[in-house]
Amino acid sequence: MTVRNFAARLAPLYVVVFGMVLACATRAQAPAARSAAPPSRTGIAPLPRVTSPRLYVIDCGTLIFNRPEDYNLTRDEVADTNMPVPCFLVIHPKGVLLFDTGLSDHLVGRPVYENVVFGYGQLKFNSLKGQLADIGVSPADITYLALSHSHFDHVGNANDSAGSIWLAQKAEFDLMFGTHATPQEISDYAALAQARTQMIDGDHDVFGDGTVILKYAPGHTPGHQCLYVKLAKTGGILIAGDLYHYAEERTLHRMPTHEQTTATPASRAKIEDFVVEKRVQLWIGHSTSFFRDAIKSPGWYE
Ligand SMILES: [Zn+2]
Repeated sequence: MTVRNFAARLAPLYVVVFGMVLACATRAQAPAARSAAPPSRTGIAPLPRVTSPRLYVIDCGTLIFNRPEDYNLTRDEVADTNMPVPCFLVIHPKGVLLFDTGLSDHLVGRPVYENVVFGYGQLKFNSLKGQLADIGVSPADITYLALSHSHFDHVGNANDSAGSIWLAQKAEFDLMFGTHATPQEISDYAALAQARTQMIDGDHDVFGDGTVILKYAPGHTPGHQCLYVKLAKTGGILIAGDLYHYAEERTLHRMPTHEQTTATPASRAKIEDFVVEKRVQLWIGHSTSFFRDAIKSPGWYE
């Protein structure tokens, strides 16, 4: 979702947000404490053993939204204005990578009208933790956490991954823990301050064999990144993060006005060149046309 163009709308919320600081600070401690507890595998299937990478698409919620104008698209141009919120898991012979953590598991069971942020209603029916367990993955099994970027719909359960190695783009890390981050924002990922952090600055080959690569694509945020996964049967997949939100942004060459003067145009050009060069599929996570037909976990791509 976009943030800068909501700045004006944010102003009346500052008082509310400030008033929530104490409550949020308290809430942020709970996930950190949970992740410190000894993991239990009771009732969880064994971690899948793989000889080549597997990619899982996990349902991490939905954003109820009807303002494609924020993305310089009309309602007639966008087939489906709601936005799915997927998380992605890669099980590689050398370890496990969680890419994005979606909307917070705290939202499960709550009415959408209680949780409207910047005009986006947050809806969630299943927890990330429960869906990982369905795959056979406990928090302790996750070797690496990487975030496409730090907006609320991507970091909702980041605190649960504080026991993993966090592959952090330096520019995003500086944004997340810099002076401009609000206490409300930080509460979603505060526990990462104690995570083992591997700072990266640009593209990064996660397992060192070229099959799982974080692709630096700044603009939407300073440290925004995509994920490339090379699968033995499916071929190459490029998970776009929020480089695009709607498929129509890509086909009609649109982007939010405020991103036109950021690195987004250059990042889109770089990623599109990569897609052509490697002949990969580009997946837009927030696009209903992608998510509707995707194989969801516990099924997988390989
Ligand atoms: Zn997003």
